[in-house]
Amino acid sequence: MRLRYGPYAGRSTELLLLRAPDYAKWVLSHRPDGALGRDFSELMAAFDARPLQHACACGAPANQVRAYPNSTELLILCDHCAGQPALGDVTSEVTDYAAALEHVRQTCVRAHRKAQRRIIRRLAAAKGLPPRITEAAAEAFLYGVCLEPTRRQSREAATTR
Ligand SMILES: [Zn+2]
Repeated sequence: MRLRYGPYAGRSTELLLLRAPDYAKWVLSHRPDGALGRDFSELMAAFDARPLQHACACGAPANQVRAYPNSTELLILCDHCAGQPALGDVTSEVTDYAAALEHVRQTCVRAHRKAQRRIIRRLAAAKGLPPRITEAAAEAFLYGVCLEPTRRQSREAATTR
């Protein structure tokens, strides 16, 4: 969906979800039932549905992401390694979009906006998003897995109206 007004007029929600998570979060907490809020909410579900592309350092498939307090460096782990007390007790799970932003809100000491952008960028990269986040890359990333073709076509029709 393309924004028609406001500071991000002309930008797509797909791009903003990945590059301006602080804004997506603001919309979701203030206007969850508006068209924009519903769109961000669906895109966030698509983001979370993307599998991790990396293996854990032990070689097993990774299915958890964790981070230390006040850090946006990601530890990409299998369940077994993530459950080790030395790690499990001191890190928080940031495997999904909302959890990653909550980690920043609760543990990062300053520059929340920057930290939110950094952690989402890193999480997206772990799920296979290329480093240069263009609108086309954002769409391929978000619609590659989750939304069925009919849904995608209806979204495209909605933006060109
Ligand atoms: Zn492991």
